[in-house]
Formats: sequence, structure tokens, C-alpha cells
Amino acid sequence: MIKKLAIANRGEIALRIMRACRQLGIKSVALHSSADRNAKYVKLSDESVCIGPPPALNSYLDTSAVIAAAEVTSADAIHPGYGFLSENADFAERVENSGFIFVGPKADSIRVMGDKISAIQAMKATGVPCVPGSDGPLDVSKPKVIEAMAKEIGLPVIIKAAGGGGGRGMRVVEKQSDLISSIKLTQQEAAAAFNNEVVYMEKFLTKPRHVEIQILADQHGNAIHLGDRDCSMQRRHQKVIEEAPAPGISDALRQKIGKRCAEAAKAINYRGVGTFEFLYQDGEFYFIEMNTRIQVEHPVTEMITGVDLIKEQLLVADGHELRLKQKDVQFNGHAIECRINAEDPETFLPSPGEITQYHMAGGPGVRVDSHAYTHYVVPPYYDSMVGKLIAHGATREEAIARMQGALQEMVVDGIKTNLPLHMELLQDRGFVEGQQDIHYLEKKLGLSH
Ligand code: ADP
Repeated sequence: MIKKLAIANRGEIALRIMRACRQLGIKSVALHSSADRNAKYVKLSDESVCIGPPPALNSYLDTSAVIAAAEVTSADAIHPGYGFLSENADFAERVENSGFIFVGPKADSIRVMGDKISAIQAMKATGVPCVPGSDGPLDVSKPKVIEAMAKEIGLPVIIKAAGGGGGRGMRVVEKQSDLISSIKLTQQEAAAAFNNEVVYMEKFLTKPRHVEIQILADQHGNAIHLGDRDCSMQRRHQKVIEEAPAPGISDALRQKIGKRCAEAAKAINYRGVGTFEFLYQDGEFYFIEMNTRIQVEHPVTEMITGVDLIKEQLLVADGHELRLKQKDVQFNGHAIECRINAEDPETFLPSPGEITQYHMAGGPGVRVDSHAYTHYVVPPYYDSMVGKLIAHGATREEAIARMQGALQEMVVDGIKTNLPLHMELLQDRGFVEGQQDIHYLEKKLGLSH
């Protein structure tokens, strides 16, 4: 039984994990950098250890420091949250080899899914639909083969880094004459950014939506899905607003793709929570990648299913059998999440600094997952998200109305935030009608793709 959990993350997700620990009677240890020493969630944890200076490379990404801190506090398990070390297979392996439970899948699953080409190959083998593409690395020493492939797939195509992530390492090619030079450029960028120059090709879908399936699997061969989320409202491939269920997808289709994902999870011996990300266009799903961790947007699924995903994640990590069967997962109403970032709403540049006044929204169906408070100083070293505002309603209309009210109530003064952008988007006609595709927000912002 996990008695003490080391949380190798920060901010709202560290607080969220701590809350789940409380539910389960697990003691929490906040591992933090010196920049987060005074964070409220660090004070709220049962214990805390400073693992290094502010730069993430020397603290949140320092595997030895993380494992040593878990060791000295006698924790039995380590939760990596999202980002940082959460999808680092070598870290997961070291955690387990050091005698701790890693709250996540086996290192092998992370490794397979961490490489987008091996992920696509694994998914194809289990019958999950993928984007038409090269299904393997591109070899620029054979330009004729590549050109023929692009012709067959049909332009435009997108060149993607096998080791890419965070929306980086991708390039759209419209013209056959640009193909080889674009591939070389993407290879160079990928080598520099991900230390892996392997790239592959996919058909570029022109107006897809980003729809993903949440799954949960135990270590005894059971897996279920918890429905879908639409995360099409993106800027520079970063999600801004997420919702569940995905508008315009029939329950029959949701169940069908969900079941396929749960079966794929079983086939690859997956354990823990995970997300299959798809592009959805003209009634078809196309797998793009799997995230082998809890995601930022998990609360919208929690709101419509009533399932505490982090609690379940901890239970399955601890070896318990799934408490839920597929038929126990019922969808109730609609939920929307707005990511509140400390950034200039016009330029999108980060806006760290002291929050001089902070007031949380409330009321029926409103949830705030945030570590911020009045006088909290947003450090400049990490991503700019200071919290998530989540609204649930019986219908999508009600969820939107509640989100509009919550956005009006929310006060985050002293720094710039994207609250005004959310306010505008929640009144945007196309969004209110559920018409968004992945290019919708950038078009609206005047940033063409
Ligand atoms: P990352 O791991 O960097 O997030 P993904 O493979 O998940 O990369 O892709 C991120 C985003 O890029 C998608 O949500 C979508 O907006 C866009 N994208 C990726 N593949 C395609 C494609 N084949 N066609 C159109 N857009 C794509």
C-alpha cells in the first residue's frame, strides 16, 4: 500500500495530486525548486524537500535529485504529474529500479509511445485508425521514394519529428518542390531540439478537430475508457480551451472509438491513465499520439463522469483492480476548461510577477484548480499556466453560461492574464455553436497557419 507519495512536479497539478492523496490517506511530499519554496501547496503538503535551484534542468528535471529526495523522506511512490519527467522512460525505469512505485505506465510503454513512429506502428497493429502517411522514417537519400509517397498521400503533407512534443518539430508542405528541403530543415530542427533527427510524413488534414480519448487500465488486464474531450481551441498547437464530451460526436461513435482505445491499451499491456489523441475530420478518427500520463485537461472528464482520475491512477499504481467497469462510466452533462495563463492577452508573452489580488470564481458547477493566491509571485522559470477554470452544466449551453459568469467573477490582478481572451472566446459565435477546428482560434486571432 502506498503510504507516502513524492510529488515530482509543481503548481496546480502538485496541489491536485496532494488533494487525491488526502482522499486516500496517503502522506504527500512536495519536491520543489528554490523558486517554489514559498508556494502554498508546498506548505499544505505533509513534508517538502528542496531539490535544487530554479532552472528546471537543475531541479524538476534532475532525476538523481528527485530520487534522492524520495529516498530521504521514505516515500514509497513517485508521481511525475505532467510535463517535466512524466514521459521520460529512463526516469520511470530508475524510479522502479530504486524500489519505488512509479505512478504511471511501465517504462517500455512510455518508450514505445514516446517515439511517434513506434506509437503509430503499435496502434496500427491493434486496429486503431491512423493518419495516412509514411508509417516510418523518411530517408532523404532517396528523394524519388519520398516524392512518390507524398504524391500518393496527396499534398499538403506534414513532416513531423518522431521524438517531437509540445507542438514543436512539425512543418507543413504545400508544394512538391519544397518537400525535400522542408524535410531536411525539420530533421535539423529535430536533431537540435529532441536529439533525434528522425522525421516522418503524414497527410495534413485541413480542417480536423482534436478529439482525444481518456483511458484507465490496471495491472490485471482490465481497461476502460472515460469518453472523449475536444481540444481544438489551440494556439501554436497549445490547447487553450478543452471540453467534454466533444460536440457533434454521437454517443455510438464515442463508444466505438473508446472501446477500440481500451482494447488497444489492453493489447499493449498498458497500465494507469492515458490519452489517445486523434484528429477527427468528416466522421473519421485518425490517431496522432498517445500521452502516457495525466493531462492538464483531465478535469472536464472528471466533471462529466464523477470519477476522480488521480485517485484511480494512484489506486491502480498501487496494484488495485479497477473499481469501475465500462458500464459504470456514465456521462452527465457537459464541462469546459479554460487554461488561465500569466501572459499578455495581446502578445502572448509571459507575464510573471506578483498577483496583487486573487479572487476565485464559484457557484454551481464551477471548479478552480489553481495554486495561486493573493501575493503569490508567479516565477518566470516555468510554464505560464496559473490555474484552470472549469465549468459544468447539464448542457453545453449551461456550461458556457456558467463559464461566462465564472470568468466575470475571477480576479487575477498585478500580472497580465489571458482572462480577457477567454471572455471573448466564450462569446464567440463559432465556438458557441461548437464549430471549432484546430485552426479556428489562430484564424480568429489573425494568425494564419
Ligand atoms: P505534439 O506531441 O507536439 O503535441 P501532435 O502529434 O500531438 O504533437 O500534434 C500537435 C498538433 O499538431 C495537433 O493537435 C494538430 O493541431 C497538429 N497536427 C498534427 N498532425 C497533424 C496532421 N496530420 N494534420 C493536421 N494537423 C496536424
